Amino acid sequence: MSDPNCIFCKIASGAIPAKRLGENVHALAFADLNPQAPTHVLVIPKVHLASHAAIAPDQWPHLSAMQELAQKLAKELGLDATGYRLVMNTGKDGGQTVFHLHLHLLGGRPMSWPPG
Ligand code: AMP
Ligand code: ZN
Repeated sequence: MSDPNCIFCKIASGAIPAKRLGENVHALAFADLNPQAPTHVLVIPKVHLASHAAIAPDQWPHLSAMQELAQKLAKELGLDATGYRLVMNTGKDGGQTVFHLHLHLLGGRPMSWPPG
């Protein structure tokens, strides 16, 4: 449920501070420490799930809750009119650096495609 060495588990428990922006039963949102866009929010499951590749069949409700919270925050932060990007970096080639599942919610500027 929780990994004592995981920084996002520590944020979820309140042991490490973060700028919390919202939550629901399964997910928590907070500001990214190193924002890549005017709005850059991280949405995480409250339990420790390592990555998208490691999600077990009974854990999909956590993903659903993350997506639902991301949509709610996008509306609250005024991104829904102009658009936004949701990114889930997975594994080495995906650029994942923190191995507690997270969704990046990015907005406030036009995004390029393809990503680098
Ligand atoms: P990723 O590269 O997809 O694993 O993204 C990890 C993200 O976590 C990066 O955008 C970091 O800036 C962010 N991050 C790392 N530590 C913290 C922290 N303590 N509080 C907020 N964001 C963090
Ligand atoms: Zn964790």
